[in-house]
Amino acid sequence: MGKPLVWIGVMVALTCVPQPAVAWGTLGHRLIMRRAIDLLPAEIKPFFVECRDELVMRVVDPDQWRSIGWPDDPNHFLDLGVPEYGKYPFEALPREYGAALEKFGDVVLRRNGLLPWREAEIFGNLRRSFAGFTRKAPYAKSDVVLFSAIASHYIQDAHQPLHATDNFDGAATGNRGIHARFERDLIERFESRLRLNPAPPAPITNPRDASFAVLLASYQLVDPLIKADSEAVAGKDQYDDEYFEKFFTRVQPMLEQRLSESISATAGLIIGAWEQAGKPAVSTREERPVEKVRPTPGR
Ligand SMILES: [Zn+2]
Repeated sequence: MGKPLVWIGVMVALTCVPQPAVAWGTLGHRLIMRRAIDLLPAEIKPFFVECRDELVMRVVDPDQWRSIGWPDDPNHFLDLGVPEYGKYPFEALPREYGAALEKFGDVVLRRNGLLPWREAEIFGNLRRSFAGFTRKAPYAKSDVVLFSAIASHYIQDAHQPLHATDNFDGAATGNRGIHARFERDLIERFESRLRLNPAPPAPITNPRDASFAVLLASYQLVDPLIKADSEAVAGKDQYDDEYFEKFFTRVQPMLEQRLSESISATAGLIIGAWEQAGKPAVSTREERPVEKVRPTPGR
């Protein structure tokens, strides 16, 4: 008699486990990554075209890490709008990590997100991986692919307005679920209607400051996004096709703008790291000279 109730309880508990918000959804991240490769300069484009499939697959790896349970969550967002960071442009939050850590402590910083500093860390990994080509380091190719995909993921997240606000899923304004409706559902439903025109990429030289700038611009889009969702669902009791059509119509320019800017920034990030590494020649074929047998030192 009690068993069905137990199972209902288990099912309810499972469906209530909070799902990590994955910016742009898998489809969005892959769309951005695929298009960004087209914007790369001739010196490195062939390398990235050859590795395109792997990059497009790996760009969502950081979201998978969260599903596994690795503590990557804070790296995907910055919750602007929390009281301790003050009002726009949130100058109470030091941009320098050490100063921010000293002021707020690790617990607060992790709770509110670490995206700009994570971007800087992975950009450094990418720059060093590019430099590995100069000294013929082993694994330079696979490292460049790995860190290009990972660095790209975080800057792409920064372009999603709901990754730059403490009202990240609309709970504070009665728009619960807006996160996935915007970043996943709209792209899955309307990809063929999107008109993306990414500008020529500018090399990113300071990934931390670039991330803050992107997040501040994202934050300013939060209110219009919330308003569009409220208007689209007004008078309705479910998020049906009619709702999505209305929501898309209202936010299409914003969605196209943020996706296009994300494509340019992804390319700009890769170019910036490559330039800072001294513009090394990159190749997917790593030379492996025949090694000499080294005699074991005798006793
Ligand atoms: Zn993410």
